Amino acid sequence: MSRVINFSAGPAGLPIEVLEQVRDELLDWHGAGMGVMEMSHRGKQFGAILETAEADLRELMGIPSNYRVLFLQGGATLQFAMVPINLMRGRQSADYLVTGSWSKKALGEARRLAGARIVADTEAEAFTRAPEQHELALDPNAAYLHYCSNETIYGVEFPYVPETGDVPLVADMSSHILSRPVDVSRYGLIYAGAQKNIGPVGVTVVIVREDLLGEPFPGMPLMLDYATYANNDSMYNTPPTFPIYVAGLVFQWLKRQGGLAGIERRNIEKSSLLYDYIDGSAFYSNPVRREDRSRMNVPFTLARPELDARFIEEAGRAGIEQIKGHKSVGGMRASIYNPMPLEGVRALVDFMADFERRNG
Ligand SMILES: *Cc1c(COP(=O)(O)O)cnc(C)c1O
Repeated sequence: MSRVINFSAGPAGLPIEVLEQVRDELLDWHGAGMGVMEMSHRGKQFGAILETAEADLRELMGIPSNYRVLFLQGGATLQFAMVPINLMRGRQSADYLVTGSWSKKALGEARRLAGARIVADTEAEAFTRAPEQHELALDPNAAYLHYCSNETIYGVEFPYVPETGDVPLVADMSSHILSRPVDVSRYGLIYAGAQKNIGPVGVTVVIVREDLLGEPFPGMPLMLDYATYANNDSMYNTPPTFPIYVAGLVFQWLKRQGGLAGIERRNIEKSSLLYDYIDGSAFYSNPVRREDRSRMNVPFTLARPELDARFIEEAGRAGIEQIKGHKSVGGMRASIYNPMPLEGVRALVDFMADFERRNG
């Protein structure tokens, strides 16, 4: 078996220890005589898996007791709709920050369903920075403020948590959840699809303050009402059992890494190595304002874009895969989520230096 150095933006690489444990337990989970994919979600075995996963996530993120943890399907994209459906609560409009493709999509969905106002929009600056707090003229009557705390495609990560007073703050944390400590009490609702930094695609995590539950638009399907999940321990219908199980193993792996403070130190080390190299080179560049650069997604361009295809091909021969940038940005993107080891980033930097020597 040989494994590549995987820079995919998502679905992304998982910790090797987790994959090995999944392999070892695939046919017989803890002596059950069956694997997790084959067991009833109502049985005590899966019940224990779900309970442990939630408890470990609560411990890792320090989730206060007045917040509920929900496991849903539909990806972060369904949350673009579920957030307005559940949180408008009779208000006229919600506030949105537009800082990249994902928050723009969230705004579009909100506008299909309700009133949504743009508070800040950095598209004219090619989504190369996060707006600062003083630029945010918030509506005190807004139902909530929605933002994407890490824009996966443009590589922009908010270095601060927006202050919203009494207006609930809602964050799409899909691509950097669990990469650094977070003060959950600052938020009304946090959501994240799993396939970037949590586990396999198929489960979406929602962390919601209890007082925000229970007033969706009238006539909504039960499956679009957060309370349906909260009142049934995420088991109103069959939950995505296997992704929840693997996510639970990732949470245990994170605890062994020293929790979110431990993984943050490694993420700073990894991302600094790459950004420092890019900044010191005349051949590669990253357009994002320094303080807003993502520790998870590092887009970069080559001084001679005609070399992009050759870069990707030669990288592949060096075991470096899924490095091509998103089509809307071009160039390359190295996604270096929690499981990416420092040696993986070092191998990328070594390859980049070698490529620059030969082509610069
Ligand atoms: C990947 C991603 C999404 C979309 O996730 P799906 O699971 O495909 O719905 C939304 N927001 C952010 C920040 C993402 O990185």
